[in-house]
Amino acid sequence: MKPVQTALQKWMRENENFKETYARVKQEVVNDPEIKEFLSLHPELTQKEIDKNLIKLYEYKSQTKQCTACKSFDSCVNMLQGYSPILHVENNEIHLSYEKCHSRLDYEKQKKQQKLIQSLYMPKEIMEATIADIDSNPERSNAVRELLSFVERAKNGVPQKGIYFYGPFGVGKTYFLGALANKLKEFNVSSTLIYMPEFVREIKASMKDDSFNDKVEFFKKADVLMLDDIGAEMQSAWFRDEILGSILQYRMMERLPVFFTSNYSLDQLEKHLATTRGGVELVKAGRIIERMKQVCKEVEIKGENRRN
Ligand code: ADP
Ligand code: MG
Repeated sequence: MKPVQTALQKWMRENENFKETYARVKQEVVNDPEIKEFLSLHPELTQKEIDKNLIKLYEYKSQTKQCTACKSFDSCVNMLQGYSPILHVENNEIHLSYEKCHSRLDYEKQKKQQKLIQSLYMPKEIMEATIADIDSNPERSNAVRELLSFVERAKNGVPQKGIYFYGPFGVGKTYFLGALANKLKEFNVSSTLIYMPEFVREIKASMKDDSFNDKVEFFKKADVLMLDDIGAEMQSAWFRDEILGSILQYRMMERLPVFFTSNYSLDQLEKHLATTRGGVELVKAGRIIERMKQVCKEVEIKGENRRN
């Protein structure tokens, strides 16, 4: 008989614990501010329904909502990484479901972009650039002012015109774009920053596979497009007219901004773009420059070469 008694005692003890735990969990759940609000919005829910779903309510309470306690997607603490719980009522019954959080959506978007465009890679120092780190050297104050003005306007939606930063090698033109891209992230605006020579190479290489159209579409439609070092790429009439021309045309019509950096002023770039293996085509280059002027504003950056 003894083992049975022991088992019975044990069960009763645990049952006591269970009751205590249950009462405690219930108190925690009904006193949680978010659950309180949810219940107050749904007076139709019966006590029986609430008791029946205590575990669901507890699960909801224990998960963070829309990244409130998360630093990044990788450090997500929820049961389902990158998913936030949602409570809703249907036919007087409580339901718990999960939806993707902001971080997960960003993460998936990034993965998709990385898969599509191989050369969006930028050096670490550019990826980590911040506007706060741009020193206000009087030589660059105009460029900084233009950058800050864009940021101010971007708070109320992406402005129509970007900036064409030009100046000598090493003054920080690419750094400006990196800093801007990082700032725009804070307003959920994504930037596509690509080094022109890589851009040309990537598009040319994709002529052989079926990703070509998707790639061109991607650059046409990016929230903010940043073309780094225009003029440094291999000059090709085909790329200039069919690719760059059509991307700019689209963005001009859709009022989407483009940023550029270059060692050339726009006047100098015009001559540069005119000269390809096919000869000198001033009219065609002029057409590109006209479109560029519609999507960005020319701003000079001066200063010393920071790479020395
Ligand atoms: P550019 O594109 O004009 O040739 P970069 O943007 O590549 O020049 O800048 C040259 C170097 O100076 C890079 O190593 C960059 O990280 C650094 N740099 C530029 N601006 C700053 C800044 N404000 N603070 C710190 N480093 C900077
Ligand atoms: Mg550069």
